[in-house]
Amino acid sequence: MNASFVQAELESLRNKGLYRSLRCVEGDQAPTLLIDGREVINFSSNNYLGLANHPALREAAKAAIDRYGCGSGASRLISGNMTLHEDLESKIAQLKGTEAALVFNSGFQANTGVIPVLIGEGDVVLSDALNHASIIDGCRLSRAKIVVYGHGDVNELERGLKNSLPNARKLIVTESLFSMDGDEAPLADIVSLAEKHGAMVMVDEAHATGVYEPNGAGVVAKLGLGERVLVQMGTLGKALGGFGAYVAGDKLLRELLINRCRSFIFTTSLPPAVMAMGIAAIDLIEKEPERRQALRNNCRLLRGGLESLGYSLGASGSQILPLMIGDATRCMKLSEGLLQRGVFAQGIRPPTVPVGTSRLRITLMATHTPAHIDQALKVFKEVAREMKIEDGG
Ligand code: PMP
Repeated sequence: MNASFVQAELESLRNKGLYRSLRCVEGDQAPTLLIDGREVINFSSNNYLGLANHPALREAAKAAIDRYGCGSGASRLISGNMTLHEDLESKIAQLKGTEAALVFNSGFQANTGVIPVLIGEGDVVLSDALNHASIIDGCRLSRAKIVVYGHGDVNELERGLKNSLPNARKLIVTESLFSMDGDEAPLADIVSLAEKHGAMVMVDEAHATGVYEPNGAGVVAKLGLGERVLVQMGTLGKALGGFGAYVAGDKLLRELLINRCRSFIFTTSLPPAVMAMGIAAIDLIEKEPERRQALRNNCRLLRGGLESLGYSLGASGSQILPLMIGDATRCMKLSEGLLQRGVFAQGIRPPTVPVGTSRLRITLMATHTPAHIDQALKVFKEVAREMKIEDGG
């Protein structure tokens, strides 16, 4: 086989500053971890509430393995629907205030599977320009017409709705808290427009689940929009510290997905230990609101510090701080410079973000201490001076 294209492809990525490689971290997802044997402060994890390494989740997983074993043995529709799957789904529905929930093996599988159930050829999906790759792929798989509207631009969204054929089924899909920019979608306006134009709404709460008041249920719940949003999707692998994903909505939606969603039907179900972690995590976010408070305080501290150093952090008001650089090579150089000095803040480049908007994606955890943040700010100051970041040079 002539595989010279493999080398050419890799070379081309290298030349564009887009070459990716895996970095191995030692230890658990704590605020500090070891990279190449050196301790660094971890600002690159979605373990926002510090649950991924929490004793309660560890214990729940161990107990589930002792009682139910390791693998689930089959897909949910065969023999893999264990009591823990149903228990976790009840727990999620209760948290979200929905009639029902359905667990998926990952958020990627949820998005790519659910969207094609809701729309198909001849229909229209209206998708925010900054939606996650899994939403983009779900839209493509649906074979519906895809209308991408400018990020958070409700005027453009309305134009798209008006231009759709009256008989086409319409779906608006958006993240609630955007993964790479840390800003929120104008959900109340989106839901009103959907109602005006007869469209369904699907909201991806991957980064919002667990972190929003009043109870960690997400932005839809915070805004009281639960009844007006058809699909609320979220993940269990970020603030909830485990793995997997969910769709919350009404019972009929759950039934339809069980019958039609290929990424749900044709895959081995998640193992019992993962379900047990999810249940333990929801218990914790309900019982320990102080974790959310600690996360917010940390965001305020780091954001204030970085802004006073002259860094630009966009419209983020959350635990995701995008430190805008622009050029991909320069962004990765900054990330590397920080890492050498003990601060791990991942550089994010196209195609994850649009060309020219490479950034450091700095994420906070409830378990970072003021000392971690102070130390990071010192390092940011040094590196900014060295690389002349503050003045855009
Ligand atoms: N949606 C969004 C907005 C995400 O950021 C991610 C993961 N980064 C996913 C979906 C996919 O979730 P998972 O990691 O569970 O596959």
